[in-house]
Amino acid sequence: MNITCDQCKETFTASGEQISFISDSRKKGMRFIMLECLSCYKSFSLNPLTMTVPVPEKTTDEDLLRCPCDSCYGLISYVEDQKPFWGCGECGSVWFTQSDLFEAIEASIKKHPYRAKVYKKKGNNFMPVPLENEPENYEETVARE
Ligand SMILES: [Zn+2]
Ligand SMILES: [Zn+2]
Repeated sequence: MNITCDQCKETFTASGEQISFISDSRKKGMRFIMLECLSCYKSFSLNPLTMTVPVPEKTTDEDLLRCPCDSCYGLISYVEDQKPFWGCGECGSVWFTQSDLFEAIEASIKKHPYRAKVYKKKGNNFMPVPLENEPENYEETVARE
């Protein structure tokens, strides 16, 4: 399976792991996933159903928020589709409004208070803390939820 990286525009052959990730996400009907380019090692998003990049993508303050779903530590991106949404490229959850997303974060912090450490609250908005300020074992802890 050949994939073209949206960052460096190189075409690379997907690894076995990537191929099974893509076929799993197709089965789940996911509209976008994050893949790591095997040529430049940057991450880019891909719609697994069409194998195209779901662009134009806009960078917002909410980009790179940690996913609020149980046992998922994916990062959230804003995708400007016909109906724009915020989505997690790991578990495929999507939120169509910012307030739905923030409510989901609020609920996840109530349930798992340590999760508050990966967000910065500005007014009613959640922003991501820089990755280096996250608790060291954040991903392991979330994976055990
Ligand atoms: Zn690349
Ligand atoms: Zn997720």
